[in-house]
Parts: sequence; C-alpha cells; structure tokens
Amino acid sequence: MFEKRYPFYLANRPQQPNADLAVVDKYSGEVAAHIARADAGVLDQAIAAATSAAAPMRRMAAWQRKAVLNHLLARCRERADELTEVLVVEAGKPVQFARAEVARLITTIELGVEESTRIVGEVLPLDVTERGAGYRGMWQRVPIGPCGFITPWNFPLNLVAHKIVPALACGCPFVLKPASSTPIGALILGEMLTETNLPAGAFSILPMKSSDSAALVEDERIRKLSFTGSSEVGWKLRDRARKKHVTLELGGNAAVVIDRDADIKDTVERCVFGGYYQSGQSCISVQRIYVHREIYDPFREKFVAAVRALRMGDPRDEKTFVGPIISEEDAKRIEQTIRSAVQRGGRLLCGGSRDGRMVEPAVLEGVPRDADAACEEIFGPVTLLESFIDFDQALAEVNNSRFGLQAGVFTRDIGHIQKAWDELEVGGVMINEIPSWRVDHMPYGGSKDSGLGREGLRWAIESMTEVRMLVIRTPK
Ligand code: NAP
Repeated sequence: MFEKRYPFYLANRPQQPNADLAVVDKYSGEVAAHIARADAGVLDQAIAAATSAAAPMRRMAAWQRKAVLNHLLARCRERADELTEVLVVEAGKPVQFARAEVARLITTIELGVEESTRIVGEVLPLDVTERGAGYRGMWQRVPIGPCGFITPWNFPLNLVAHKIVPALACGCPFVLKPASSTPIGALILGEMLTETNLPAGAFSILPMKSSDSAALVEDERIRKLSFTGSSEVGWKLRDRARKKHVTLELGGNAAVVIDRDADIKDTVERCVFGGYYQSGQSCISVQRIYVHREIYDPFREKFVAAVRALRMGDPRDEKTFVGPIISEEDAKRIEQTIRSAVQRGGRLLCGGSRDGRMVEPAVLEGVPRDADAACEEIFGPVTLLESFIDFDQALAEVNNSRFGLQAGVFTRDIGHIQKAWDELEVGGVMINEIPSWRVDHMPYGGSKDSGLGREGLRWAIESMTEVRMLVIRTPK
C-alpha cells in the first residue's frame, strides 16, 4: 500500500504539482510515501476559496451538514484498516494504539453527526425593565467563517477530526495544515470529503512548511485559528493572530497524586499505561507521580517491575507497547533530559538507554523540581516518582508547574476529591484515573501554558460560532 504518492487538497480538489515531501516510516526509517507540498501561493488560493465558501457553507441546512459527516463516518469505518496502517507507518504508533486512535476518530465523527443537529439558541425575555416592554429577544449561533487549523503529529487522525468535524458540523470552511511528518491520515480524510457535495472551497488540506504558512495565522480573511501542538509554537502564533479568535491545545507535564488509601495494583497498571503508551508521546501522558509515603515503597517496587516488563519494538507487532520516538533528534533530547536529571541528583530506577529512535522506558526518582525532567514536557517514555505526606502539599506540587492540562488523583476520600477538583489548576481532574484519560465529547483543554479554550465537539462548535442577537419590537 505504501511507496505511493498523495496529492494535497486545494478548494476540495486533489492536486499533485510536486512530490516534495517524503514521509518516512518511523520504525524502519525508509521513505514510505511522497506527498505534494503546498506553498504560500497555494495557501493564498485556499484562503480565497474558503472566503467564497463562507456564505454557501453558512446556508447549508443541518441535515446537509449531517449528511456530509455521515459520509465521512461511513468511509472511515470502511477504511479503518488502511487508516490504522497509516498511523503505524507515519507515526510509528504501535498497532494496538493505532487501532484505538481510529476507533476514537470514528467516535469523534459520530459525536459530530449528533452535534450538527443540536446547535441551538434561546428566547430571551427583554421586558426585564419598563424600557424593554414590547420587545422580544432571541439569539442564535452563526458560523464564524473561514478557519485555519494547524495540527501535530502525535494523533494525526483524531486531532485533525477534532477541528474539521466541528467545522463541518456548524458550517465553517477551513484550511488545514497537518504536521509535516504525518500528513497522510489528514489527506485520506480529504479524499473522503471530495466524495461529498460540500460547496466549492469548503476545505483545503495543505501539507506545507511552517515558514510558508504565515497567512494561516496572520491573514484577516481567516476568522479563527485553532492550533494543537507545542506551547512554544502556540503562544507565538497567538501573538501574531491579532483579531482572530484563537484556540490553543498545547503541551503539559501531567501529574498523578496517589493517596494512602489507593489500590496499589490498580494505580500501577493505570500509571504504566498513562506514562508509556505511544512512548509517552501524548500531551496528557503521565510524567510526575506523587505517592503517599505509606505506600511509596510497594508502589515503586511494583511500578518499576511493570515498566521493565514493557515490550519495546516494531509497531506492527500486536504485542509491542513501546514503539519508536517520532525522530532521532527527539530521542536524543529525551536521553539528554534523563542524563541531566541524573546529573542534578535524580536516581534512575530503570531504562533510559537509546538505540536510534528507540528509548528504553525510564523511571526516575528524587529529581530536583527545577530540572527539565520535572518542569518541562518530556514527551517521551519517562516518569518521575516522588513521595508525599500531606495531601494539600501534593496538590501544591501538581500546581507547581507552568502547565495545567489534566491531572489524576487516586483516592477514596470525598474531601480530597472535592479539594482536588477545586484546587488543581488544570482543565480536567480525573479521580481514580490517570490524567491521560479522555472521551471525545468532554470539554478538553488546558490552563496556564497548556492552552486557551476548549475542544470536544460541542465546545469546539461554540468556538467556531458567534452569538447573533435578534430583537423584535412590537409597535403599539
Ligand atoms: P509542534 O512542533 O508545535 O508542531 C505542531 C504543528 O505546528 C505542526 O503542524 C507544525 O508544522 C506546526 N508549526 C510549527 N511551527 C510553526 C510555525 N511557526 N507556524 C505555523 N505552524 C507551525 O508540535 P508537535 O511536535 O507536532 O506536537 C507535539 C506537541 O503537541 C507537544 O507539545 C504536545 O503536548 C502537543 N499536543 C497537545 C495536544 C492537546 O490537545 N493539548 C494534543 C497533542 C499534542 P511542521 O510539522 O511542518 O513542523
């Protein structure tokens, strides 16, 4: 199926002016496919087309938008095995997690189908003072217009879906720039959309260099920018976006608090999953684990044994849990973060070696708070253990971070649950669950450096629509 060429999609149509972007199999390192790459001129045409499509998209009825999404849903179901293979090859995602992402992609579209028929408004009584007597008010949500989307490589299908599905559900044209290392999944979704009768210019999917994509951020014809990726890039784009509405879904160094009454076997299982699935390359991967001192030693022993037992290797192998890091450069960065944590006094309890893109799952303890491994996003198969005595202090440690995406707390104490929900500076608190947990209709997003706004179908639709008020005066 690979060694093939993929076009980009400009104004709903495939185009193959070149094959400049080589996509590499992240495990073998061999070129798997050649992709047509767009440039700034093509982007300008895409924005012009999206601008022309704004009115016809706005006028589409809910049943028509729903029909487009139902088509996408049916085609993703039919092509699920192909999409799974694409993720294994272009993202190096172990096949069990690739299959899980395709399942979530399908759920996200299903949720979008439902939400497309639920974009509602309200009747607002205006006679709240004498001045408003004889007036009626109503408001509705109207699509904001052309949207610019930029997506990362680590969930190349579902995170694309979290932008394009709400846009289609509410009637916004869009121009999407997928990550250069993993553009194929998005292009297949584009191919499926060409089979629908969306208005001309409704969508463009353009792999391109970030240096060519400035207009997506700065051009005022694009009314909304929705970016998922690193904090470093995201906040800089927000500064350049000027009058645009902006959503930022950024990075984190997610923490878990394990209280004295937690079930050790359960927490070990969940934290191993959260710390090491897709080699820790998830924005809500478990990075910092705070364990009550009374259960710290047995937890550490079982946790390290379970991490040592994780199977590394070829992502095509059904049993592989830990596959390659996205690039050798990133693998080296992770190796260096571990080394520097050890130089700063941290103890390496297992793993940490590197062979090309493969990094052996590592566990550290006693890492100083200001070491990169503790305060930055590692985005690799590494967790940090720390013990605590006072629950409030553990919550303060979780908050002692510039990030705030999600947090997990394992406890049976209702007072601690309430306190965690009230005090943790994050977008979502998971009780008796790892921060890595998400269902796709939840409001999802970060506080602090982790982002701005929320995704999750209904929330993304809110961010892609504006409230328009109607006031009716009844003449005497
Ligand atoms: P990244 O380097 O920030 O890149 C993300 C996207 O931005 C890519 O499409 C990239 O293009 C593009 N980009 C980079 N610089 C740009 C610029 N100056 N102008 C326009 N576009 C630019 O992030 P990544 O390595 O792909 O993804 C990992 C990061 O995403 C991690 O920090 C992770 O935590 C975060 N993430 C957050 C969430 C969330 O929902 N909060 C979900 C997943 C990932 P190229 O590929 O062409 O460089």
